[in-house]
Amino acid sequence: MLKTNYRRVLKLIPPNVKLITVSKFKPIEDIKTLYSLGQRDFGENRVQEFLEKFEILPIDIRWHFIGTLQTNKVKYLVNKTYLIHSLDSLPLAKEIEKCFSKLNSIAQVLIQINIGKDHNKSGIISENIYEFIQELALYPHIKVLGFMTILPIVDIASTVILYKEMKSLYERYRALQSEGKLPSNINISELSMGMSDDFVEALENGATMVRVGSRIFGQRN
Ligand SMILES: *Cc1c(COP(=O)(O)O)cnc(C)c1O
Repeated sequence: MLKTNYRRVLKLIPPNVKLITVSKFKPIEDIKTLYSLGQRDFGENRVQEFLEKFEILPIDIRWHFIGTLQTNKVKYLVNKTYLIHSLDSLPLAKEIEKCFSKLNSIAQVLIQINIGKDHNKSGIISENIYEFIQELALYPHIKVLGFMTILPIVDIASTVILYKEMKSLYERYRALQSEGKLPSNINISELSMGMSDDFVEALENGATMVRVGSRIFGQRN
């Protein structure tokens, strides 16, 4: 089933979009199966589980850290993750700067946006993005590649509205960047949104990365 699910999803992804297969809670064997089909981008959301998989699996996997990241765990990710999707506060940025600079490494990150203004979700609200980005100029070991969002669970019509809002934010910040109004460590070129139930809608609204778990690996227990 895994191979068939994967091929079905892959068929829906345009060539310029990155499919991140979210392997959280799923065994090493499943990751190896997808790896053998050419998949290289995998998403994990817990540091401990990520580290266990990282140690065992091929070195050319691009690991995407997509979960809430506690400051005391940042040090474990240095030189191991390809992209951290969940930069959601200045204290976290400060800690990323500290840990990555220590090893002379640059952290590639996305800013997590709380587009639904959901009290249960972390992320920067749209009104605060500009100021947040300006503050990141202090952190040369952070390179911002774009935005990520996790939506509150709502009906598909509301989902589409929120994806459209993300798209317009993304375009607005790309315009600001091309006008030279953002710090030099900001390079807005990725928009990470869309999961199993709504990645098609995300693609229609400009997602450059989708994060798909259960639709490929099956339900998580
Ligand atoms: C688990 C998870 C996903 C994948 O969710 P599915 O509904 O299983 O596709 C995507 N993004 C984040 C941040 C996740 O935690």
